Amino acid sequence: MSQNPHSLDAFADTKRLIVVAAHPDDLETMCGGTVYQLTQRDVAIFSVNCTLGDIGTSDPSQNRTDLAARRLQETEAAARLLGIQQTFNLGRHDGELLPDLTLRAEIARLYRLTQADTLFTFDPHWTGQIHPDHRAAGQAALDAYMPSKMPLYHPEQLNEVGAGVGCLARVFLFSTDRDPDVLVDVTAVYPQKIAASLAHVSQFPEGEANLEWMKELDRAPGAKLGVAFAEQFKQVNVW
Ligand SMILES: [Zn+2]
Repeated sequence: MSQNPHSLDAFADTKRLIVVAAHPDDLETMCGGTVYQLTQRDVAIFSVNCTLGDIGTSDPSQNRTDLAARRLQETEAAARLLGIQQTFNLGRHDGELLPDLTLRAEIARLYRLTQADTLFTFDPHWTGQIHPDHRAAGQAALDAYMPSKMPLYHPEQLNEVGAGVGCLARVFLFSTDRDPDVLVDVTAVYPQKIAASLAHVSQFPEGEANLEWMKELDRAPGAKLGVAFAEQFKQVNVW
């Protein structure tokens, strides 16, 4: 039985959530259980993938353009399963993501367009994070937070329909083992997390057998709560 029945309380005021990830399948495997529970609470969810995931194969005969197209389709299929409102892909090449000024501005634009109040992204400071794209996505997402709120930063973005200065009020980092302070029991929705992850058929062609690593990652925080599976986050103090 869960000893932390109020673990979603950290998101009690969340109405619009934006998730900034690096690759198609990051959201689903890293925080898909939490995202699904929030969609069930009528939170509007926006998914941003910075790269096309176009080297995500061990088959050297695959064509990168075709793989990118396939992964965009898989992203949409997963989004439908999780109830995600809208997906964005910033079109960068997989394995080459840098937290540069252009990426910062592109992410800030999405904070402004979506008027998200809550951000989920990779923890760029977790020393265990070996994927450079994950670190870069997290760094760029954090770097975009402050300027998105400043009207003189790329003011042309504010002319777009529906855009306003950024209004993020809460930031949570996933893929972290750096003093996580929010643990979310995802046991009840684990079938949905698995289904959304498996929508990325190009990545997990053998089905659930390919997701043992994800279950292992989710068992450790689950054990802290006394449940089977949990997702963990580190909250960043922002104002
Ligand atoms: Zn990734």
